[in-house]
Amino acid sequence: MTDENSHRAAALSHLRRAKLEKGDPVALPLTMASMFHLPGAPAGFAQYGRFSNDTWEAVEEMLGHLEDAPALGFPSGMAAIAAALFATLKAGDRILLPSDGYYTTRILTERFLTRLGVTYETRPTATFLDGGFDGFRLVFLETPANPGLDLCDIKAVADAAHAAGAIVVADNTTMTPLGQRPLDLGVDIVVASDTKAPNGHSDALFGHVSSRDAEIMQAVSDWRKLAGGIPGPFEAWQVHRGLETLDVRFQRMCDTAEFLAEKLKDRDDVKALRYPGLAGDPSHNLARAQMLRFGFLIGLILESETKAEDFIDGCALLQPATSFGGVHSSAERRARWGDAVDPGFIRLSVGCEPASELWRAIEVSLDARRN
Ligand code: PLP
Repeated sequence: MTDENSHRAAALSHLRRAKLEKGDPVALPLTMASMFHLPGAPAGFAQYGRFSNDTWEAVEEMLGHLEDAPALGFPSGMAAIAAALFATLKAGDRILLPSDGYYTTRILTERFLTRLGVTYETRPTATFLDGGFDGFRLVFLETPANPGLDLCDIKAVADAAHAAGAIVVADNTTMTPLGQRPLDLGVDIVVASDTKAPNGHSDALFGHVSSRDAEIMQAVSDWRKLAGGIPGPFEAWQVHRGLETLDVRFQRMCDTAEFLAEKLKDRDDVKALRYPGLAGDPSHNLARAQMLRFGFLIGLILESETKAEDFIDGCALLQPATSFGGVHSSAERRARWGDAVDPGFIRLSVGCEPASELWRAIEVSLDARRN
């Protein structure tokens, strides 16, 4: 971790301190309110639960601190992505999406944006720069892409897309601002699902949009207030609590993923392995250049669908579950959702269990499928 990110992580759980008065609780109070006591002129006061909430604002302060940019909270990662797209696009715009990124972003575009006169193209993340960006109003990237874990060069995409007149959005869900900093590399908007590692406990959905462009943030804030896709205060409180331990969880998850990837690469029953931190990974040089850590997701291919399912089910320390970024390790076969990956492809989300115990459990389950 850079010194700068280390300062950021250290200050994160002290952000409230500056506002506390003697006798205030150190932990964040939960404000559950739709109505506020509001006699007379309303300006300058909390007015209505769709407009503002102290608990969201505390989380937004933390997310903004991590991004080094203003941040707005949303009830899920998809609500954040929808807000970024609907707040910036208009009829006649053409957008570029990754063909191998989180599939719901493509479905949202196909089902709803095309009806409003927005057209789109897709392109694989590994060759995202090929073909240039002429004619696009918005370029949306995701790196490492979920689930295949290919990378694209964020700065090169941002520079070329800006030269072509496009705005650039990065989905940074797989890395968090502690692992990769797309805004510092030149993108205009970061979107993320904080349902994953930022909350970290698999018990709440949340998302955020962050940008250093005041006009964009105003449009996203207006979208949220008018469309009504606001975060629930309780979920905001949960994410606030999760963020206080993000650094310690994330560093451990990345350390363990590096350790496991090295172990997995030596096994002949693993047909293929993707982890940006492995020296032999096709994206390794780019990963070294643009990522602060190599992340906690590993992609591995076993011989068949059955072997993959049995491996996951038979591993005592893996939750068979979709989603990722929890304190508990989890895994799933992505082809079950229709992702264009090998039937035996498993996305493994490394959690916070002690690394050697986790490896032992994985090894036992892999060994049991040898024949
Ligand atoms: N972006 C990526 C890369 C994801 O993996 C996900 C969910 O898996 C999302 C966005 C959507 O997040 P949410 O489920 O919080 O709406």
